[in-house]
Amino acid sequence: MDRIAIIGAGVAGLAAARRLVLAGHRPILIAPDSAVPNRGETLSPKALTLLEALQWPHLLDADSTLPGDGRFSVWGDATLRKAPDHEGLGYHLDRAQFERLMRTALFAHDLEQARTSVTAIAHRPACVELTLADRAVISAPAVIDCTGRAALSSGEAAQRRRLDRLIAAWRVLDLPDDAETVAATLVEAVELGWWYMSPLPGRRMMLGLFTDSDLVPTGVAQDGVRWAGLAAGTRAIAPRLASLGLEASAAETPPAIAPAASITVGRLVEGRIVRAGDAAAALDPIGANGLATALWSGTQAAGAALGLARGDADAGAAYERDYLQGVAHQFAAQNAMYASEQRFADAPFWRRRQIISSEPDPKERTA
Ligand SMILES: Cc1cc2nc3c(=O)[nH]c(=O)nc-3n(C[C@H](O)[C@H](O)[C@H](O)COP(=O)(O)OP(=O)(O)OC[C@H]3O[C@@H](n4cnc5c(N)ncnc54)[C@H](O)[C@@H]3O)c2cc1C
Repeated sequence: MDRIAIIGAGVAGLAAARRLVLAGHRPILIAPDSAVPNRGETLSPKALTLLEALQWPHLLDADSTLPGDGRFSVWGDATLRKAPDHEGLGYHLDRAQFERLMRTALFAHDLEQARTSVTAIAHRPACVELTLADRAVISAPAVIDCTGRAALSSGEAAQRRRLDRLIAAWRVLDLPDDAETVAATLVEAVELGWWYMSPLPGRRMMLGLFTDSDLVPTGVAQDGVRWAGLAAGTRAIAPRLASLGLEASAAETPPAIAPAASITVGRLVEGRIVRAGDAAAALDPIGANGLATALWSGTQAAGAALGLARGDADAGAAYERDYLQGVAHQFAAQNAMYASEQRFADAPFWRRRQIISSEPDPKERTA
């Protein structure tokens, strides 16, 4: 069988490559060498069984992860609460180190990588043709699109829809030597959206404001003092920043802005192309599930691609059904979470989410 091509080397693409290698296939991975931002992501405990199935439990080492101590929130009322942790506590991730370990394990199997971008994808009767940035053309019997939010393969037939305008205005701060840390996340709802504070391995702390792109107050994206000033008005984030000695450093430079909107596609499998990770559905980070979903979907998409490459046109049906059910489940959980915060019901950020969680209003939806 010719090589299956995987486009994108984030968590979804690397999981897909691993699954194919374990199945005895030699895929080609196509992605530029690009730095992965460390956004203080937490890895859901669900990821553990996925990593074990990929024979990768050793990736959670002391450099790449910090075992979590729980999630605290101020949400729904002004009380600080600890969230129940029935499913386990998860891990705070050094994403760059985690992916480095994944890559090292894969290249021990002589995995082939084209360190470049794909610029065009064309469906052909018996293959998919990929044009690379250097104009070389590769054909593959099946392609797994793991290009994240870029979702390279999604044309008109994919019915891609952005459901909101969520962005994160965030920074990673170095903790002072004498700061005593607890490896717990803190989430606080505010009128503009919500704040998130989460430790990273290596004595660092991510601080982020999640709000809609059109609601970011003037100057906040350009000015660290204004951004930190918003944090100073919070009930739980502000005292935590002060107790860690981070108030001054938070104000030093402007935050980075990352798109975080929920985006869905109507079709996960199109001809011989299978989408996985954020390229299939990018969901609100409030669920902290994107990385586990990328691991799961990369693995499952690889199974579907193997079937498609062998000529089984229905090979992707079960994957597509399971993924869409998972997305529906995550939307239900996310909507319930937003509906449980009613203190700011008249503020645009919350009004939009209450509408999405009940009857859709076309006027309020963003295209
Ligand atoms: C601010 C923020 C906070 C988050 N917090 C969490 C959290 O706490 N927990 C959690 O589980 N999830 C979190 N997420 C979600 C999580 O980061 C994503 O779901 C996850 O990174 C998706 O992985 P992926 O492999 O699908 O895509 P990505 O990691 O985006 O990888 C995409 C890859 O595709 C490559 N690529 C793109 N275009 C091309 C092209 N044309 N040709 C070749 N290669 C290409 C890129 O170089 C990259 O290698 C957060 C997201 C955001 C924005």
